[in-house]
Amino acid sequence: MSLPLAGERIVIGHLFADLLNLYGDHGNIATLVRRAEWRGAAVEVREIGADQGGALATVDIIFIGGGQDAQQITVAKGLEQLGGALLDAVGKGAALLAVCGGYQNLGHRFQSELASDLIGPGLLDVWTEAPVGAARRVGGVVIELAKGSPIAAAGRASAAAAGVAGAETHLVGFENHSGRTYLSAGTRPLGRVLVGYGNNDRDASEGMIAFPGEGGLAGLRIGTYLHGPLLPRNPHLADYLLGRALDRHGSMELTALPDEGEWLAHTTFAARWNVERATRRGSRFGAIGERVGSLIGF
Ligand code: GLN
Repeated sequence: MSLPLAGERIVIGHLFADLLNLYGDHGNIATLVRRAEWRGAAVEVREIGADQGGALATVDIIFIGGGQDAQQITVAKGLEQLGGALLDAVGKGAALLAVCGGYQNLGHRFQSELASDLIGPGLLDVWTEAPVGAARRVGGVVIELAKGSPIAAAGRASAAAAGVAGAETHLVGFENHSGRTYLSAGTRPLGRVLVGYGNNDRDASEGMIAFPGEGGLAGLRIGTYLHGPLLPRNPHLADYLLGRALDRHGSMELTALPDEGEWLAHTTFAARWNVERATRRGSRFGAIGERVGSLIGF
């Protein structure tokens, strides 16, 4: 059988892998690797630390995970060294996914409980404050993508084939953070919070997304609080990232994979947290959770 990405080589750069790797963040890398390999591509994963900016020049996807404030102080110092190369790589089309602590570190500023302001490279147009004594935001999250989102489009066929058409309009994940993140004017959230907390206590936004070409940078940029890990339960987001990373190899269609297992994990998680929420504060998650919840017996 001929595989559509046969002959392609994808390079993934994992930033500060030894410092930021909470709640299975490494599973995001594993998911990208396997989904590329299943389609025939060869994948190289590079762990990239502060003094390895040169290794970013040929990277297609950049991932940075979550961590604790103490590690984030070290990461902020490392980013003083690595920030320029990072900006260059995304400027030239590398796709970036930043989760939780990494999301906070790559913004303009992170004011943690442990240190005075940590200044980031501003690759993500956000800033974060962790007010002393602020309650941690912990639990399941379900967010709704914007109408017409290309992330949803990337999962439409496989969700329909798995019998859960419509599930691709949501992302699910787990959050655990005390930081509150605010988007600069004009920055688009990744989605709207239906269950959980997301960016902050004010606006029901979760994460941020800048599409390729926005802000003068050719690469896609996504920041989010969703751990869990994020990509195994959200195959549409994994494929959207892979697709944008492959744009610089020339235009390539990503064929749908048989994702029944992934969509079951996604919808089960959504249904479960819908139930949790419904018992506490009244449900805001609609038809999909209820339908799948009843199918799988929640
Ligand atoms: N230390 C950050 C916070 O608590 C990030 C936590 C994380 O990455 N899960 O806000």
